[in-house]
Amino acid sequence: MDNTTMEKLKKYKKHIMNSKFDIGFFFLIENLSKFIDLIDIDIYISENPAFVPENIYKIINLSGKFKMLNLRNIFITHSPKNQKVCFSYKDKNIIFNNDLLIKTESDILHYIILNASQFISLEIIHILLKSSALSYIMLNSKEFLEEATKKDTDINKLIYIYLTVITMNFGGNFNRAILFQKKDDTYVVLRALGSADEKEAHLIWEQLEKNNYSFKDIIKNFKQKAYFSSLEKRIKNFKLSKYTIFKYKLFKEFLDYDTATTIPASALPKKLVKELDIIGECAICSLKSENKDFGFILVDNRFNHKPISNEQLYILDYFSKQTTVLWENKLFIDTLKFEAQQDFLTGFYNRRSLDKFIESLTLSGKSKIGIVIIDIDFFKEINDTHGHDKGDEIIKTLSEIIFKNIRSEDKAFRFGGDEFLLILDDIDEINLFRIIRRINIEFREKTGASFSSGGIVCKNSQKIYKCIKIADKLLYNVKRTSKGQIKIK
Ligand code: GH3
Ligand code: MG
Repeated sequence: MDNTTMEKLKKYKKHIMNSKFDIGFFFLIENLSKFIDLIDIDIYISENPAFVPENIYKIINLSGKFKMLNLRNIFITHSPKNQKVCFSYKDKNIIFNNDLLIKTESDILHYIILNASQFISLEIIHILLKSSALSYIMLNSKEFLEEATKKDTDINKLIYIYLTVITMNFGGNFNRAILFQKKDDTYVVLRALGSADEKEAHLIWEQLEKNNYSFKDIIKNFKQKAYFSSLEKRIKNFKLSKYTIFKYKLFKEFLDYDTATTIPASALPKKLVKELDIIGECAICSLKSENKDFGFILVDNRFNHKPISNEQLYILDYFSKQTTVLWENKLFIDTLKFEAQQDFLTGFYNRRSLDKFIESLTLSGKSKIGIVIIDIDFFKEINDTHGHDKGDEIIKTLSEIIFKNIRSEDKAFRFGGDEFLLILDDIDEINLFRIIRRINIEFREKTGASFSSGGIVCKNSQKIYKCIKIADKLLYNVKRTSKGQIKIK
């Protein structure tokens, strides 16, 4: 808007500021501006602000918000009847005269559709259809939130709900959704929904069509299954190492994007294209928050072969962001619940909380977890000789020494009477041994007693229980042959 236009509009300013089109017009213009660069607007406005139809003020207000709408001329008219707005796009003009300007917004839209070029009218109808599809999905998102935030929805179920909404026809409507979890610098398939091949896809569609399942029906059927789908069964354990990703610069860049994006198969790691049999394109969206990077989701329309639409991307982005927040919250609540189970006297966690902790650890995807079991030697004898109080004191001293020597992210559990389990974060065998030896030496110095221990570095968070068993076996061997020693596998 130039200075003379601004000057002319001065006395209407308050009216202009107070008048706004329905928000739907914003969506419409935003979408139209993707292929229309400029519409010139000439306005014939009454000299008396009280006689100006509200819609003229709305149009002026709107033109200040969109570059595409260029307020070219303002003409002041004496007779209110002569008020009008002329729009020029290329060589086509549309004129809103005073009779139209006093009607409703819907009347105006109807008039535009009837009088604009066929190309623009069809485009407007297309945008309106798109927006009503979006609003329908947004109404359904209430059900997503209801299910996802339920108290008994754990992380596994949350992921199932998320993948369901991404693939169902009233949601993202993607044919497949594969969630990759970030584990250290590697991306591993965590869960996947969708068909394994075209034949299965058609079978599933037929079933869905026949049974007319609702979102709630599908979520109700969720059971802690080993696999969410036959696709998951086929591709589980598939990995993308950081070396592979490093070789595909564009793909790597997309993983850092914070919005959902389509990516051509040619820019994806070859082994990924091969494993998932990706044709043409797919879309990815990272699941990242300020504090956490869970990984990314990959989706495509592999079986109906439709190009990925902007609406699909929008929905993918929307639900991915919601899921990231909920996922992070659930982890946080798990941690809080867990902290609440600490033993007041020693600060150790109790055995009950171990299972809970291992459950969250299993999903963490960590690959260097130190596991050590410690058992005090001849404790019965100590109790018998020096009394039970002395025994208690020794246990307390040991707990203090342990806490002094481990980091805040490490955890210590009281397993049995004089038996303890330590779980240390991100550690190798050498450092694990060093820490336990330091604890052992200090314990001997302070109490005169000793302990035996067995430990292992667990390389796969899914195998924690197996590793605990191994540590226990090592401890048993030490007890039998060389009490007071540390054995790390
Ligand atoms: P080993 O060297 O083979 O480990 O022999 P041990 O005598 O330490 O035998 P074991 O570990 O089987 O026995 C643990 C004993 O610890 C049994 C119990 O009387 C005692 N104990 C368990 N909890 C407590 C406690 O909270 N305070 C005290 N003072 N003693 C406890
Ligand atoms: Mg003992």
